[in-house]
Amino acid sequence: MLRVITKEEAARCVREAARLRIPETETVPLSRSLGRVAAKDLTAGENVPAFDRSTVDGYALCAADTFGAGASMPAELEIVGEIAMGEEAALTLRRGQCARIATGGMLPQGADCAVMIEHTQDAGGLCLVFSPASPGENVTKRGDDLAAGDLVLRRGERLDAARTGALAALGIEAVRVFKKPRVAIISTGDELTKGSLQAGQVRDINSDLLRAAAEQFGCEAICFGAVKDRRELISQALERALATADLVLISGGSSAGAKDMTLDLLAALGTVHFHGIAMKPGKPTIFATVGNKAVFGLPGHPLAAYFVFRLLVCDYLRELLSLPPDRPFTKKKLAVNIPSNHGREEYLCVTFEEADGVLPLHTKSGVISVLLGAKGFIRIDRNTEGLAAGTTVEVFAL
Ligand code: AMP
Ligand code: MG
Repeated sequence: MLRVITKEEAARCVREAARLRIPETETVPLSRSLGRVAAKDLTAGENVPAFDRSTVDGYALCAADTFGAGASMPAELEIVGEIAMGEEAALTLRRGQCARIATGGMLPQGADCAVMIEHTQDAGGLCLVFSPASPGENVTKRGDDLAAGDLVLRRGERLDAARTGALAALGIEAVRVFKKPRVAIISTGDELTKGSLQAGQVRDINSDLLRAAAEQFGCEAICFGAVKDRRELISQALERALATADLVLISGGSSAGAKDMTLDLLAALGTVHFHGIAMKPGKPTIFATVGNKAVFGLPGHPLAAYFVFRLLVCDYLRELLSLPPDRPFTKKKLAVNIPSNHGREEYLCVTFEEADGVLPLHTKSGVISVLLGAKGFIRIDRNTEGLAAGTTVEVFAL
């Protein structure tokens, strides 16, 4: 018999196990860092921009020289030169002088603003300015974008395009990230095959499904293929997996049937923390540690294996890599009543159109088709009698 624990207890247990491991880190070039998880906080070591810059094409000048200017009485300033892009502004403006400047050009000494070319007229060496400017106008000050000391990347943040851009702005060419956790994947079952199907055989879905899920999360997956339901073969696969990987996922044979030997094998190798979670799908789940390496015994049913990965294995990985907790991507109203009174926390694939409510996808025995049609999933608490149409539910990404 399974001694069933709640989903929250199970999550707490896997997170605790994750805290026993210190994730390794490595330095990767910025160009190879997309999707990787920062291993330490990173603060700006310099100011961006490094100098006061014009944000317009026009003239750099001292705002006080344009006070009182208007359409009928323009201010007149002497044009004394041009600021070259990418070079230090060599000239110093005296009062009554201005210099041509392009967007991004360095403000010269003596200037405190820039005036758009559209608001001026070049009158043969004189610049006529038709409206008053104010100090700081059309200028990005040194450090306005990022100031030295600003936190730009936190430990546990994934590098995306925005963060990559910020690091590029600071001249950071390499980032300290967590090494990709190495996840070993083992499928078990006499019925599983990869090649042409004989009567009664099914294809091994979990190896590829879990590999893809692990890689999508940012792990390195190592597949051990489908192993027959023979104690010594599963035991060998487990030992090889534990020798090479940080984390092992073994699917199938996780219940308490005659052919289900994962539990015994894991109990012999290490410590079994739980067997059975009050969740649907995913009840026959085992969690064990061997040394400080985690082993998840996932249900064979691919949808259940996927949900346990998405919920518990991801919780483990989030804790390991200091990633923030999972958040729903939207909240929507249910279009229909959903009964659920079996005392297990239930996870349901759902779909919705933007304007309409959320519809559950029914999954008698459907596996892959359900995942294909789903826009996300919802959670139904184990202590409810189900959810009534019109209830607002949180939708999580699959
Ligand atoms: P088990 O957990 O071993 O009792 O398997 C439960 C169900 O999932 C059975 O119908 C198995 O055939 C199926 N199953 C187990 N492993 C896989 C797999 N790797 N790919 C596809 N189906 C599987
Ligand atoms: Mg089996």
